[in-house]
Amino acid sequence: MTVFSSFSRAFHAHSSSKLLVLFSVSSGGLVALSESQAESDRPNAELCQTESKKRVVVLGTGWAGISFLKGLNSSMYDVQVVSPRNYFAFTPLLPSVTCGTVEARSIVEPIRNMIKKRSVDINFWEAECLQIDAENKRIFCRSNLDENLVGNNEFYLEYDYLIIAVGAQVNTFNTPGVSEYCYFLKEVEDAQRIRRSVIDCFEKAVLPGLSEEERRTNVHFVIVGGGPTGVEFAAELHDFVQEDLIKLYPSVKDLVKITVIQSGDHILNTFDERISSFAEQKFGRDGIEVLTGSRVISVSDKLINMKMKGEVLSMPHGMVVWSTGVGARPVVKDFMEQIGQGNRRVLATDEWLRVKGCRDVYALGDCATVDQRKIMEDILTIFKAADTDNSGTLSMEEFQAVVEDILERYPQVELFLKSKHLPHVTDLLKDAEGNERPEVDYEEFKSALSLVDLQTKCLPATAQVAAQQGAYLSRCFNHRKQCETNPEGPRRFRLSGRHQFHPFQYKHLGQFATLGGEQAGAELPGDWVSVGHSTQWLWYSVYASKQVSWRTRFLVVSDWTRKFIFGRDSSRI
Ligand code: FAD
Ligand code: MG
Repeated sequence: MTVFSSFSRAFHAHSSSKLLVLFSVSSGGLVALSESQAESDRPNAELCQTESKKRVVVLGTGWAGISFLKGLNSSMYDVQVVSPRNYFAFTPLLPSVTCGTVEARSIVEPIRNMIKKRSVDINFWEAECLQIDAENKRIFCRSNLDENLVGNNEFYLEYDYLIIAVGAQVNTFNTPGVSEYCYFLKEVEDAQRIRRSVIDCFEKAVLPGLSEEERRTNVHFVIVGGGPTGVEFAAELHDFVQEDLIKLYPSVKDLVKITVIQSGDHILNTFDERISSFAEQKFGRDGIEVLTGSRVISVSDKLINMKMKGEVLSMPHGMVVWSTGVGARPVVKDFMEQIGQGNRRVLATDEWLRVKGCRDVYALGDCATVDQRKIMEDILTIFKAADTDNSGTLSMEEFQAVVEDILERYPQVELFLKSKHLPHVTDLLKDAEGNERPEVDYEEFKSALSLVDLQTKCLPATAQVAAQQGAYLSRCFNHRKQCETNPEGPRRFRLSGRHQFHPFQYKHLGQFATLGGEQAGAELPGDWVSVGHSTQWLWYSVYASKQVSWRTRFLVVSDWTRKFIFGRDSSRI
């Protein structure tokens, strides 16, 4: 309640200063608010723009936000960062934190440390954005800091450009009992909670006076979701149990069970088949039960109920970890309603990461998806633009002249060529017998490209995508001025001229999954797949090199070394 009363107060304060804002906008885009506003009326007077630089407000300090900030030439903008956590977390190592292979503090880097290294000022505010008002270009925030500290926890910020990089939240698919009784693995705190709970399960299982069935239930760990997070956690837990816990809790050694519930037919189904089947075989040898084709219907404090091949089953559990995908955060959902994207799952952007239906707002990382333009929507304009001699047909030369722009603007064309094993784009225009046609008419052109859009793919919700998007957007921001006068993107087919920038293009650099017992699976560029012990060593070197600072690199490597020498720490702190 207090938040919204304060927001409306702030809003009224804003209307009184509209005249001055208008004046300042017309004099060079600067938004400076009137001094006549009583400071007491406005909880965040000091947060209004005072410099002539355009203000960029960044929401989130995860992979996308940090990558954007690292690449941005922040001397060009007044940069303000808002995030409820004052650190960056290296999420790929979260599964290792759940079992103490790596300590939580080893995978986080304080934002203020990262900012301090920049020669220019970037302001960081530890707060959560609760609402985006795109019409008035402002965001409303609340800090979760101790209410007993003096001062207001609520404030608003104005922006010229807004970068939404708030990530996503766990998706429970409204399954009853999940929010109440399951653990999640999304944030550092989640991993710490899981670590404590695993130890609790063991301590409880060895208390005197429990029946064997009760002990067995307490050390039954269920993981819902057979994607990389669920699989890596299952593997970590198995190692923790086998290498450390059974020595400390020998009485329950034969009762421990790990079960992975997966709705699809295979675990790791976004990976190459060879990795997925290697993981299934390894889990089979390790005694990790994998229940495929199963869907959880509800969870209670003691039971997990699921549907498996039409039958409803119940399993007693000690602990359930839910890791089945992500959904939009409330602030994003609310924003989507505002801008007419209410029926979507995540925010849609165009290929330049601009939120559709909204000016000067960009979204990247897990909170957004690039809505790739369909070539069929533009097919007539492409044809007309290419047919420079207005003959009603395209010659090969005419087609060649627009090919590069087509490939860049509609990357699904390239994927289509790959899927059909066509070496050259002009192969598209060949006739049914494979003979090159000197000219094609509109209908032939349209039918040649009619199946191309089937290859349009959504980008995965990964750190790799988020980081590449952040880096891309920072480059666009750094070159905004030059590209206004000298655009460098592909030609516009619907309008004349060129796009200001090249559209975002994702480059997949491969992916890893650790499978326990010092083994991992890797899918690397060029369809190169590798599994086993050597891959785990490759994983160690890649993840050590990917750390965001020398400090965390040192901490992570020393944690790995400590684990090899002394094992994992089972204290329940
Ligand atoms: P995040 O990194 O989640 O960052 C979101 C930021 O926004 C955070 O700083 C958060 O505090 C902040 N925020 C949240 N709400 C608000 C708000 N209202 N206002 C302002 N700020 C807000 N990807 C890989 O590529 N490889 C891997 O090996 C891998 N392993 C993973 C393992 C685990 C356990 C998990 C959970 C994820 C893993 N991922 C991996 C996925 C990867 O972590 C995400 O895709 C990535 O974090 C997305 O980046 P992001 O910047 O969009 O969101
Ligand atoms: Mg022609």
